[in-house]
Amino acid sequence: MNPAPVVTRFAPSPTGELHLGNVRTALFNLLLARRSGGRFLLRIEDTDAARTRATHVQALEEDLGWLGLDWDEGPGRDAGHGPYRQSERGGIYTPLLGRLEAEERAYPCYCSSAELELSRRAQLAAGRPPRYAGTCARLDGAARAARAAAGARPALRFRIGADRLLRFDDLVHGPQQFDTALIGDFVIRRDDGTPAFFFANAVDDSLMRVTQVLRGEDHLANTPRQLLVLEALGLSAPRYGHLPLLTGGDGTPLSKRNGAQSARELRAAGYGALAICNLLFRLGHSCADHASLSLEEMAARFDPGRLQRASAHLDPVQLRHWQSLWVRSLAPEAAQAWLAGFLPAAAAPAQRAAAVAALLPNIVTAGEISEWLPVVFGGELRWESAARAAAEAAGAEFFRALAAAATDNADLTALRAASGRQGVAFFAPLRAALTGRLHGPELAPLLRAMAPALVRERLAAWTR
Ligand code: GLU
Ligand code: ZN
Repeated sequence: MNPAPVVTRFAPSPTGELHLGNVRTALFNLLLARRSGGRFLLRIEDTDAARTRATHVQALEEDLGWLGLDWDEGPGRDAGHGPYRQSERGGIYTPLLGRLEAEERAYPCYCSSAELELSRRAQLAAGRPPRYAGTCARLDGAARAARAAAGARPALRFRIGADRLLRFDDLVHGPQQFDTALIGDFVIRRDDGTPAFFFANAVDDSLMRVTQVLRGEDHLANTPRQLLVLEALGLSAPRYGHLPLLTGGDGTPLSKRNGAQSARELRAAGYGALAICNLLFRLGHSCADHASLSLEEMAARFDPGRLQRASAHLDPVQLRHWQSLWVRSLAPEAAQAWLAGFLPAAAAPAQRAAAVAALLPNIVTAGEISEWLPVVFGGELRWESAARAAAEAAGAEFFRALAAAATDNADLTALRAASGRQGVAFFAPLRAALTGRLHGPELAPLLRAMAPALVRERLAAWTR
């Protein structure tokens, strides 16, 4: 018998932009599936209608597509387990919730949020960990009917039942055990009728045949509740693995405050998708290979046994390192596609291609190209005083000879011959006149990228 295929998933709540912690979760799940020819599924956890916006869902799908984290199954790719948006799965949840209630594994809870808060504070004040006090667990049929008649809309609570030790084997943290007495009955359907996270998330993983779940460590404590729900419904549970948190350089969880950027922001700043994936591949997963890898190569090297327990911190210097490796690996066409949106739209294709060839070695992010655009395409130069001095020292005669030689087809060799100079005595003042600086892109490709008229104009400026 063949073992069941590996099915992993990414199940984001689309309440904002995709941050790097989420991207890493998606990446690891994709790699875990791909390494064994399994399936990677996308599910949108949008039961919290108030916090979900259609634009967020669209942005999320776009971001995943840009990152290359394409799902095999999910929105737009139904493999028989859809719909893949929880907001459209009400018809699947209702009978399951009804069954739990009919079998007394769940009961309506009429407590108001004020009552719940009061009870929570009382328990904290008594030095006990707060959990649901069980107020509604013992209401009989008559008491429930009275509450309902008074107009109260109940939530549905899962009944934990007799105390026991719940065990499971975490893919990252190994054997775990939880005392169910500490959990407290929890809500599986909110009073507005929408399913709660513990319920919908667990049930969907089972119904969608998910076999392995890699997710953030913040969900480790939720796992016992989810296992109890699945057990009560007679549904199989996936294996869970909880990834250590990504932290900022200061050791606190990633957030805007410690410089975390979303995938979208990094993209706009001109980072490459594969650079981001290469960085994240090394955060919480050890890898002896220090080269920039494709997603296929990462999948071949991904090993759940190499997932680490310690939190991993995101270092901007490392991001720049992977970005730089990725940029250096780009073929000319790929480089042009990457930089297309950062070049003047009006420039002719041949000049755009020549500009990319000339400037690529001098940039790490696409945004950095903007600094060189006036040099190539015309515009105000940012003069360094040392460059100005070098041009002045070279003298008007030198530039007259160059300007005369700078015909439409002139290359660097022709200019050097006309100048009668060699080495730095030739290069430094030429570079200074053309770029306003003493360092920068190689001159030969730069000359090929600049319009001949612009070259002549910049040389002529020093002939008086
Ligand atoms: N929607 C949940 C979240 O974004 C999913 C958690 C999980 O992966 O199980 O946190
Ligand atoms: Zn209650």
